[in-house]
Formats: sequence, C-alpha cells, structure tokens
Amino acid sequence: MQIVINNIKMPVNHKIEDVLLAAQEFVRQQCIYADNFYIYRQSIDARHKKSIKYIYSVAAEVNNGAKILPNSNLQIISQNDEIKVESKKVFKKRPVVVGMGPCGLFTAYILTLSGNPPLIIERGGMVEERVKSVEEFWNSGKLNTESNVQFGEGGAGTFSDGKLNTGIKDKRQRFILKTFVRFGAPNDILYKSKPHIGTDKLRTVLINMRKYLLDNGCEIQFNTTLTSLKMRNGKVSEIELNNDKVIECDKLFLSIGHSSRDTYEMLYKAGVKIEAKPFAAGVRIEHKQEFISRSQYGVEWKALPPADYKLVYNGKDRSCYSFCMC
Ligand SMILES: Cc1cc2nc3c(=O)[nH]c(=O)nc-3n(C[C@H](O)[C@H](O)[C@H](O)COP(=O)(O)OP(=O)(O)OC[C@H]3O[C@@H](n4cnc5c(N)ncnc54)[C@H](O)[C@@H]3O)c2cc1C
Repeated sequence: MQIVINNIKMPVNHKIEDVLLAAQEFVRQQCIYADNFYIYRQSIDARHKKSIKYIYSVAAEVNNGAKILPNSNLQIISQNDEIKVESKKVFKKRPVVVGMGPCGLFTAYILTLSGNPPLIIERGGMVEERVKSVEEFWNSGKLNTESNVQFGEGGAGTFSDGKLNTGIKDKRQRFILKTFVRFGAPNDILYKSKPHIGTDKLRTVLINMRKYLLDNGCEIQFNTTLTSLKMRNGKVSEIELNNDKVIECDKLFLSIGHSSRDTYEMLYKAGVKIEAKPFAAGVRIEHKQEFISRSQYGVEWKALPPADYKLVYNGKDRSCYSFCMC
C-alpha cells in the first residue's frame, strides 16, 4: 500500500534529501513503518513574497495491513490510481490505427499492451525526417503538405516544448506520465506541478515509443494516408491507402487530429456520422520572462525557476483564459 505525506514546506534553497528526511521524520512521529520514499508532487507557494516556500508531497510504501488514519497531511493512494491492462487477444483481424499523434500513439500502445498490436498508418514522416521538412519550411517557405508541423510522427505538438499540464482531473493522468518516463522523459514530470518534457527529449520519447511498438508486434507505415473507406451494414469493412492499396479492416481507430480536412470530408462522404464541435480561438502574448518572474516571486526571482501565471475571465456569454506558457 502507498501513502502520501503532504504539505512539506522547504525554503528556496534546499536539498531533495532534506525533503525525504522530513517525510521520514513525519511518519516516525506517527509510529508508521514506511519504506521507498520518493517525491510525489512539488509546487511553489509564492503568496508571501518575503517567505517563498517549496511545497512537497512525498510518497512511501507501507505494509498492506498497516493502520493508517488519513488526514490532510497523510493520504492513502487509491489502488485505482494504477492502471493495469490485461493482455488478451480479442480481435480476429489486426486493428488499424490512423494517425501517430498523442491519441494514435496511446491507442496503439494500449492495444499492444492488451495483446492486439495494430497496423498504424501515418500520412507524415517519422520524426527524424519530419524535422528536416519542417526546417526546410521555416528556412525557405517550401511546404511539404503531408509532413509538416501538423502532420507526422508525434502529431501536432511535436515542435513545442511538450507541456503536460491540464485543468482536467483524470485518474489516467499518472499512467500517461509514467508511460512518458518509461520511454525517456525526465522523471520530474511525475511530481512537478507544471511538468514539461522539453523539445529535444520529446523526440527521443517518440523514437523509443516507436521502437517498443515495433518490437511488440505493431506494423507502422509512414507516408501513408487513409484516402477512402467502405462501409457494409453501417460498419467499416475495407480501407484504402494512398488512393491505391485496399485492405480489409473491421476495427478502425481514427486518431487524425484537427487539421486533416481532406480526411474529414472523405469520412463524411463515406457516410460516417460527423458532428460539429465548438472551438476556441487563441492569441499569443509575449512578455519578458524577468518581468513575470519578478512580479510573481519578488526579490527571490533569480533563485527560482521561470514563473508563470494564469488569468481567467468569466463573462456573461463567454469566458476567456490563459492556456499555457512557454
Ligand atoms: C504548435 C503547437 C504546439 C502545441 N504545444 C502543446 C503542448 O506543449 N502541450 C500540449 O498538451 N498540447 C500542445 N499542442 C496541442 C497538441 O499538439 C494537440 O492537442 C495534440 O497533438 C492532439 O493529438 P491528436 O493525436 O488528437 O492529433 P494530432 O497530434 O493532430 O495527430 C493526428 C495525426 O494523424 C495524422 N493523420 C491525419 N489524417 C490522416 C490520414 N488520413 N491518414 C494517415 N494519417 C493521418 C496526422 O499526420 C497527425 O500526425 C500544441 C499544438 C501545436 C499546433
């Protein structure tokens, strides 16, 4: 069984070992025998600029039978936080995943863990090739319509710094973060309040994930576009790739993102039910980092990581909020 010790306050300059020692001292005082301590969450409390503090939660293991009385500083981690995928072959024909952005990658990963490795098709190139076509576009303006900032292995956010924060609470989040760490993302994404993978590491994670999928029975076809599909009795029966090759398919996972307008048109014409969805429009605002850090942290700003902020406006008909910061 796992427990979490919350609300461990540390000064700006501290060592991680001191955080773990503080957690060990806390459980000792509670007469709990615990082991395998690790950082579970880290955030900064900058409300009082004269005494800014890091706030930690530390997790540890205790025996299953241990009597723990949870309170605001001590929690038991629910077993439901761990997602376990049972391996059981259920599909007679190999399923097909279209798109290799975050949605397609995780669909393929879960299918593989469950013993049903799919065929993955992706209209863009593998990330190493994609980097070249994107650089060419930035340098010369020459657009590769199939492999670019939106299309290709890793999907639309591959050329960002891989921010992982979300306003949504979902018990699968830790599973997602642990999967990224498994494939080479920094361990600190598991506990930082505003985690990000980093552009350079994001590509390595993609390459490692691809290798895992291939080693475990998936087939990947890059530069391959789903161009048509056939339905029989309201169910998909065949798909066409690159306006050419037709293959049988009865389990199709469409992970095609927002930008593939030709595919949406094709799906609509083929009789797939499509529903319009509301969208949000965004603008980019630039500030000097020093300005934000000074206003959030005061004189201590240099000793702390770059600060960010969040603004929310709730209007009568619409609201507006700042989404993320690089
Ligand atoms: C510049 C930028 C920066 C971003 N930064 C972040 C960030 O830091 N953090 C964050 O959480 N989100 C970020 N996002 C948003 C994030 O990228 C998207 O929410 C996410 O990529 C959506 O994942 P997806 O798999 O649904 O679709 P996508 O990532 O769009 O992937 C769809 C994939 O399907 C492929 N495809 C489409 N049609 C076909 C077809 N017919 N045949 C074969 N393949 C096809 C495409 O080539 C593409 O690779 C960013 C987006 C952009 C554009």
